[in-house]
Order: sequence, then C-alpha cells, then structure tokens
Amino acid sequence: MVLVIGSSSTLSYAAHAGKVACPLEETARNYDRHVIDLHTHSTASDGTEEPALVMERAAQAGLDVVALTDHDTTLGWAEAGEAAVALGIVFVPGIEVSCARRGRSIHLLAYLPDPAHPVLAAELERARVSRDTRLDRIVERMAADGIPITAEAVWAEVSEGATAGRPHIADALVTAGVVQHRDEAFATWLGNDSPYYVGHYAPDPVRAVEIVRAAGGVPVIAHPWSGTRGRVVADRLLEEMTAAGLAGVEVHHRDHDEDAVRHLTRIAHELDLLVTGSSDYHGAGKLNRLGEHTTSAVVFDAIESQGSGTPVVRG
Ligand code: AMP
Ligand code: FE
Ligand code: FE
Ligand code: ZN
Repeated sequence: MVLVIGSSSTLSYAAHAGKVACPLEETARNYDRHVIDLHTHSTASDGTEEPALVMERAAQAGLDVVALTDHDTTLGWAEAGEAAVALGIVFVPGIEVSCARRGRSIHLLAYLPDPAHPVLAAELERARVSRDTRLDRIVERMAADGIPITAEAVWAEVSEGATAGRPHIADALVTAGVVQHRDEAFATWLGNDSPYYVGHYAPDPVRAVEIVRAAGGVPVIAHPWSGTRGRVVADRLLEEMTAAGLAGVEVHHRDHDEDAVRHLTRIAHELDLLVTGSSDYHGAGKLNRLGEHTTSAVVFDAIESQGSGTPVVRG
C-alpha cells in the first residue's frame, strides 16, 4: 500500500479494503532528538488501539514524548503512563475536551489537569453520558431509514467505560461489511450535515478554558481550522478564549492546509499563544500517523511549566 501523507483520505484508503489502515508500515520516522507528539487517541475513546499499544507504537515511531488525549476522559492515563515508563518514553496526560458554541463542535486539548477537579470531572461525565444517549438516537434514526445497524452492534465496538462516538457506529458498519472503513461511513451517513446527526452536551469553549485552568491544566485549542471552508473557528473566538486563559493553538495538523497554517501562526503570534503540532493519531481509525506533526521542546517546556494539576510521567 502506498500512503501519501497529507493527501485527502478517501483516495488514500482506496488501495485496501477492511476496517483498518496499516498502522505499522506507515509509521512516521523522525530522528530529531526530541520528537514530541501531543495528541493521540486510544480505545478509551475512538482510537482503535489500547492505551499501552499506542505507547508502544509511539516508541516504535521514534517519539520521545507523547500525550494521550482521548475525548472527554482520562480513562487511559494509568495504562498509558505505565507502558510509557516501561518503554522509556515520556508520557503527558491529556484530554480532548468536547466543546460547542451555537451547535458547532470545537475541541480543546487540556494538558496536565487534575482529573479529580470536581467541575472538570462533572463536565466530562456529563458529556460522556450525553454522548451515550445521542449515539442511540443516531442509530435509531439510521435504522428507521433502513440502514442495517443496531444499537447492540454499535455498543459491541465500544470498550468498557470508553467515551462513545460516531466512529463506533462506523466500526459496526465496517464489521457488518456495509462500508469498507470509517471514512466511508462518515462520507455516507455520519457527517455533521447528515440528516441522522444528533449533537451531544458540551460546554462553551470559553467556559471550558476556564475550567481546564481551574483544574491546573493547560488549554490548547485543537485543529481550529479543520472544519470545512467557512466553518472554521473565528479569530474573535480565539481572542475570547485567550482572554479566558487559552495557552496555545494546535497549528500543525493534517487537517490544516498552507493557508490555515499561515493564518493560525500569525494569530498565535498576535495573541502570544504557544504553537503546537500533533498527529491526532487514532490507530487504524484514521490515516494520521504518529509523529507526522510535532511540537518543539521549547513549547513543551512551557506547557509543562504551566501545568499543575497532574505531573508529566517520566521513568
Ligand atoms: P463524535 O465524537 O461522535 O462527534 O465524532 C467525531 C469524531 O469522529 C472525531 O473525533 C474524529 O476522530 C472522528 N472522525 C470524524 N470524521 C472522520 C472520518 N472521516 N474518518 C474517521 N474518523 C472521523
Ligand atoms: Fe476522535
Ligand atoms: Fe479533535
Ligand atoms: Zn483528536
């Protein structure tokens, strides 16, 4: 299989059928001294690999520092931390907090927050519970329209205690042989504009920034320009979030084209925000490869020094 990093995903998937993209063959290699990737997912949310396996893959990919940032949960931290120590890499506990404003989804990375902070923990719990009921509603709508899917099949794809999301519906469709891979399911039925789409509870992004800071975490907005044209996070919102305590912007990300990188780099400079880059690895669930975008050691040091809720894990 030939995979072109940075290409649009549907075409790149065309060469192989099945649930998965080939994770190992395509592992990015970067031999710089400190290779730092601050955005990955495991089976604690919608990644396809257990937290320990994500760490193993990270070590194999030559990463020195890796964050696990599952959606709305810290469930994978303990396993990932232990694995990272055994592998001799540095583990950064993180969360990708789902936020929404006027029905639009915005993702906020939170590094080193205290997972026991009552307000943060309550917000995450509320989002996870809402995600569960909304997943059933999406499936009901799809099934009512004749799409061969059941709630049982979908829940069979969700690990115990994990944050449920549309990728798990996609996985059930792949398992049933209805589609070839997640991307096809999103292109066909699961997109944000789909008639089957149902949203879930998520805090406003400004409030989420305040909560993450209150929990001793370091808030960095994830892929702000990954939306389709015209639906990107507005500069005004970045300013509002910055006033509330936003620390940085994930500028270097597969979903950002050159224009996005240029614009976000400029606004990050104007607002005095840290600039990060990450893979947003989801195992075989997406084409994103570990280390395909990285964060500088200087920026990582700044994140670590601002974080007080939970420590970076070093062996
Ligand atoms: P949800 O959390 O249920 O709103 O689903 C959104 C998640 O689906 C994102 O976090 C992505 O990881 C994943 N996702 C979105 N689009 C795609 C796609 N085209 N292929 C695979 N995964 C996707
Ligand atoms: Fe995801
Ligand atoms: Fe995201
Ligand atoms: Zn992510």
